[in-house]
Amino acid sequence: MKKQFKYDFPFLAQEKNNNPLIYLDSAATTPKPQVVIDAVTKNYTYLTAPIHRGIYETAEKATEFYENTREKVAQFFNVKSKKEIVFTSGTTDSLNMVAYGFAEHFLKKGDEIIISELEHHANIIPWQHIVKKTGTILKYIPVLENGDLDYDYFEKIISKKTKLVSVTHASNSIGTLVDIKKIIDISHAVGAYVCIDAAQSAGHIPINVQNLDIDFLACSSHKMYGPYGVGILYVKEKLHDQFYPVRLGGGAVSLVEHQKTNFLNFPQKLEAGTPAICEVIAFSTAIDYIQTNFKEIISHETEVFKYAEEELRKINHISIIGNSKKSHVLSFMVKNYHAHDIAAYLDQKNIAVRAGNHCAQIIAQKLNYNASVRISIGCYTEKSDIDRLLERVVEIK
Ligand code: PMP
Repeated sequence: MKKQFKYDFPFLAQEKNNNPLIYLDSAATTPKPQVVIDAVTKNYTYLTAPIHRGIYETAEKATEFYENTREKVAQFFNVKSKKEIVFTSGTTDSLNMVAYGFAEHFLKKGDEIIISELEHHANIIPWQHIVKKTGTILKYIPVLENGDLDYDYFEKIISKKTKLVSVTHASNSIGTLVDIKKIIDISHAVGAYVCIDAAQSAGHIPINVQNLDIDFLACSSHKMYGPYGVGILYVKEKLHDQFYPVRLGGGAVSLVEHQKTNFLNFPQKLEAGTPAICEVIAFSTAIDYIQTNFKEIISHETEVFKYAEEELRKINHISIIGNSKKSHVLSFMVKNYHAHDIAAYLDQKNIAVRAGNHCAQIIAQKLNYNASVRISIGCYTEKSDIDRLLERVVEIK
């Protein structure tokens, strides 16, 4: 029997005016399964303690569980060593760390950074800032009309001057799936490091960091059925010595003297201060949830998404943005209506979609829209949810 994931998510059981909630905003954040909610509650109930500091039993337990999550994340992404996994507060924080902890020190005037026109603002603004600070040059891989990256153009603009390439694995606004293997191979051939924004792919698509030879990877727990306030930054071990601590304070140091400080090694050197301990520990339950069901999640999401895309394409007054291969996200326009009006209308029927530029204004400018309606699915999305959306969208004319 096929597992019906939605029964694991109490958030989805809510109704409005007898309309069940149809949640199609998983790209923004995912609901949490009951096991994750229970884990957070349990941690807050029984584990009030610092990590890496206390020598009493609960503190030692908290440290052990916290480090177990690191191990679990390392296994999930098949990284070589758990030392390569840093806990941050989210993808934004992780990408900022690569910018301030690595790029700012490593890049020199005239060096080049390449990103793409598909990026979320979190993978644009930190690089603009680095350019201002270091005199480096920021270049973009253009997006073609069909929403795909122009890989040929990428090969033309990349050169020995390129030191860092930072791209999303899956677009959060129009859903394009990026061929990161190709990006990594082309980049490594000229000696550039590659940072992957996996905010939209982690938990939906398997990511094998060692096989792909990724240098930096960023993602967020709250988009992977896990708690808020927890992010992952993967940094390849050979780059650890070149990575400077970004947050300065307790927990990251081995010796502090009047005028100087010695830092601990990775990952502690990037984890100053008290982290979201209970949430990090509960994130391990979210990873267990994904890992136990991953094959089924992938096949289910693929089937539901294919159905949604095919059926929406049949509706004449709808145009889907881009027709390249997409992950679990798609954006569309409804003829004669503003996206916000569509989202407000759907909300009356308890269908939650996103409208706007989705924190990705460059791609909106490139493909000529101000705002789109975005739907994004998770393991709990059923074809019947898509049918409810379709019924409503068909009647808008
Ligand atoms: N990158 C992408 C592709 C995203 O979709 C998001 C979240 N919408 C982010 C970065 C930022 O993630 P967070 O808000 O969890 O820091």
